[in-house]
This record gives sequence, C-alpha cells and structure tokens, in this order.
Amino acid sequence: MTKYNPLTAELVKELESIVGAKNITVDPEKMETYSHDEETDPRYQHMPEAVVFPETAQQIADIMKLANRVLVPVVARGGGTGLAAAAVPLFGGIVVSTERMNQVLEINEDAMYMVVQPGVRTDDVQKAAKEKGLFYAGDPCSGDSCVIGGNVATNAGGNRAIKYGTTRHQVYAIEVVTPLGKIVKLGGRLEKSTTGYSLDHLVMGSEGTLGIITEITLKLKPLPNKVIDLLAIFPTIDQAIGIVTKVIKAGITPTCVEFMDNGTVKSVEHFLKTKQPHSDVGNYIIIQVEGQSDEDLEDKSVLLDELCMQNGALEVLVADPAKIWHARKSFLEAAREESLIQSKEDMVVPVNQIANLMHQAAEISTRYGLAARIASHAGDGNVHFHVLKGDLSDEKWDETLKLFQKEVYTLVYKLGGKLSGEHGIGYKRRQLMEEYTNPDELEMMRAIKKALDPNLILNPGKIFTVE
Ligand SMILES: Cc1cc2nc3c(=O)[nH]c(=O)nc-3n(C[C@H](O)[C@H](O)[C@H](O)COP(=O)(O)OP(=O)(O)OC[C@H]3O[C@@H](n4cnc5c(N)ncnc54)[C@H](O)[C@@H]3O)c2cc1C
Repeated sequence: MTKYNPLTAELVKELESIVGAKNITVDPEKMETYSHDEETDPRYQHMPEAVVFPETAQQIADIMKLANRVLVPVVARGGGTGLAAAAVPLFGGIVVSTERMNQVLEINEDAMYMVVQPGVRTDDVQKAAKEKGLFYAGDPCSGDSCVIGGNVATNAGGNRAIKYGTTRHQVYAIEVVTPLGKIVKLGGRLEKSTTGYSLDHLVMGSEGTLGIITEITLKLKPLPNKVIDLLAIFPTIDQAIGIVTKVIKAGITPTCVEFMDNGTVKSVEHFLKTKQPHSDVGNYIIIQVEGQSDEDLEDKSVLLDELCMQNGALEVLVADPAKIWHARKSFLEAAREESLIQSKEDMVVPVNQIANLMHQAAEISTRYGLAARIASHAGDGNVHFHVLKGDLSDEKWDETLKLFQKEVYTLVYKLGGKLSGEHGIGYKRRQLMEEYTNPDELEMMRAIKKALDPNLILNPGKIFTVE
C-alpha cells in the first residue's frame, strides 16, 4: 500500500495560497461532516486533515499537482449523500468540496443543453431547466441534497432511468482535472461519436477515482406535456413485481416503475405519520406515464389499470404525485428510524429476473432472522434491499450479514446481475467487488487506475485495492 505523508502546517499554508484563506478549514469540528457520507456505520468513517473549497478548475489542478509532489491523498466531495462511503477520506489527506462551484453557467434553449458547475444541487438543475420550459431527466431520490458532480461521478440512477437512462445518458461532455493535475475536456455536444476511447464514460461512474469533474454539459429535453402517477396495490410481492415486465411489454414506456414492499409501506406510514392506502397488506407499484394529450393519458391509464387488475391488484388509484413521491423518497429515512445501522444492498439483475431475486432474497433474509425493508427501481431491475441491524450485537451482525450476503450475491450473479445498480462500490462494497468480479476485468480496471493515477493520490482505497 502507498505510504502517504501527513499534511504538515507548511503544506496547509501552500494549500491556502492556492484556494485562499477563506476556502480552507482544518478545524476538526467543521471537518466532521466530511468524515462520512450517508452510510451511517461509524466503521466506515475517517477524518480528513484539511477540507478545501476551490472556486476554479485551475485551483483543483494546482491541488492535484501539490498532492502528487508530496504524496498526500485527495478525495472529491459533492453533497455527501453517497451510500457506499465513496467520499470518505480513508487515508486522511485533503477533501476537495465542490460546494462553492455551484453555478449554472449557461442554458441554451434552442440547442437544448445546459452547462453547470459540479456543485449545483440536482433539484436546482431540474428547476433551472424547467424555468426555461425544458426538462432535465435525471432524478435520484436524493435530489434535494446531492449535487450534479456527485451524480455524474456515481452515474446516479433514480426514478426515471427506465425511460431516460441514468446520469451518464444525460451528459454531453465533462471537464475533468486528472489525478496528475491536467484540465481536460472529454466528450462533446454530439449525438454520436466514434473518435477514440469514450474517456468521458470512463470517468463517469468511476466514483472520483479517475478525475475531479469541474464542469458538465447536460442534455435537456422538452417538458413532458401530460403526466399521471398511478398507485397499484398488490397483496403479494410476486404479483406486484410480476406486473413490471407486463407493463414494459405493453409498449407504454413508463417514466417510472417503482416498488415498495409491505414492510416499507408500514415503515413509511409510521415515519410520516400519514395513513397509506391498504397499508395492512399492500405492496406498492408506482407507475408514472407521460402522454401527448389528456386522451393519450387516459388510454394509457385504462390499459395500466386493466393489466394491474388482471395481475391481482387490490386497487389501482390515481395518486397525488406530491404525496406518493414523498412516501417513496422517505424510504431510507423511515428504515433508518427503525435501525440506524443497516446494510443497504443495491443489487441489480435483468428486469425479467427481479421477481425471482426479490422472492429468494426475502426468503434468505428471513432464514437468517434478518428484518429487511425493500424498495426498488423495479423498471430497471435495481433492488434496494435494506437489511436492518436492529439490536443485534456487532459480532452477530457481522457474522450473519456475511452469510446473508454470500448467499444473496451468489444468487444475484447466477441471475446475471451485479453488486450495485446505482450507489456504487466505494469503500463499503470493495471486498465484495474483489470477490465477485472476474479477475481479468478487475485487472483491466487496476491497469487503468495505475496508468491515470500512478501515485494513487485520487480517492485511494475505493472500488478495489491496487498493488
Ligand atoms: C435519501 C437518499 C436517496 C438516494 N437515492 C438515490 C437514487 O435514487 N439513485 C441513486 O443513484 N443514488 C441515490 N442515492 C445515493 C446518492 O445520493 C447518489 O450516489 C448521488 O449521486 C451522490 O451525489 P453526492 O453529490 O452526494 O456525492 P458524494 O456522496 O459527495 O460523492 C459520491 C462519490 O462521487 C465522488 N465525487 C463527488 N463529486 C465529484 C466530482 N465533482 N468529481 C469527481 N468525483 C466526485 C466522490 O469522491 C464519491 O466517490 C440516495 C441517497 C440518499 C441519502
């Protein structure tokens, strides 16, 4: 493992001369926030030695050059909403927060694109587009607190991926500071390109290990004309999940197909203190569709209602969008109220295997006596299976979780799936990543990391180990 040097008072002075005295802190109290993301297990936390708040790409490039010269690790940080301990400075060193690079630089209404700095909140990206009568399609459930640079770095998914794809599908181009401190522009405002390697796509989703993203050109779309949200409630998980492929095969192209199991419905009801329909037995499927006109929307709703009822739905309701999405987006906080520590599995399988996975994973967790809350971006095969620690001792929790994960990930890979659909590997899933990834594939990833970051300065210890 690389031996990193401590950040001396002299180096702090040097950093100060790069970013300015107002843009750096070494105060432990202020730095505490930057020692963790939204993964709540304290074992994944680590304090930085300094947090800097650069205002330009050039400042970040100078920080990277300094860090390479003196062998001090650097970790980029957006909103800190990650769930994989990816933004945690495992070896101390410098956290580069993008919170002061938070400007929308340009919106071009005719060419339908938007240029933003990495620290713009995702909700604000959506709002800025909407004010111009346009639509930014990325929509992670954390949109009120994550930022666009973090979304690009993790290739965030979210609710609309079934129709619009994940964050990488919303991006034309990025500006990146490389681990060695060069500023490069990757990608282009093009609908297609076969011009060498897609380095933009390599950086996107690399969880801040291959470069710090300093500017993003986003694709915008026309605002959808008409939108409706339906809530279909089913007595069993199998019936609820069974509807997913039927909806897709019906040719409707929904914008969202989200799932909440009955345990989650009850948990959210308790957390929000608001009665949820059929919460005694119901498993929820939320379907959002867009239409060209009221008639178009009506036709789609009728068809969806028929499909759901044929699949055994107790009821199909036209949902109040604010209420139903508030309920869906409260999943994590509600489960956290039940158990602060939980293992937030983020598995992804082919869509036609999701019922199979959900069924068997629930059976495995029950067999190990582990309570779980399940929500899912069901339309794209991504299952958030949150296993609750509850009052288990640390030893019992570690031991049981390991056994559960072994069975469940063996199953996931057998079904053609992978460890993480959208939250990433970070530090938290690193061991599982090394266990379940084909060694040749892992070797290619290590070779890329070593080629771009020979001193292992940028976000070391994440995704996989090197050396
Ligand atoms: C309530 C809740 C709901 C969530 N829902 C979703 C969801 O629906 N879909 C989803 O995909 N995720 C979801 N997440 C997880 C998280 O919000 C996403 O992973 C998000 O994209 C992280 O963005 P962030 O700005 O908070 O990044 P951070 O947590 O700050 O960082 C995440 C990673 O990105 C790197 N990074 C950050 N900024 C940059 C940059 N400018 N350049 C290079 N690397 C950078 C960091 O080093 C780190 O590796 C949810 C989290 C919570 C707490």
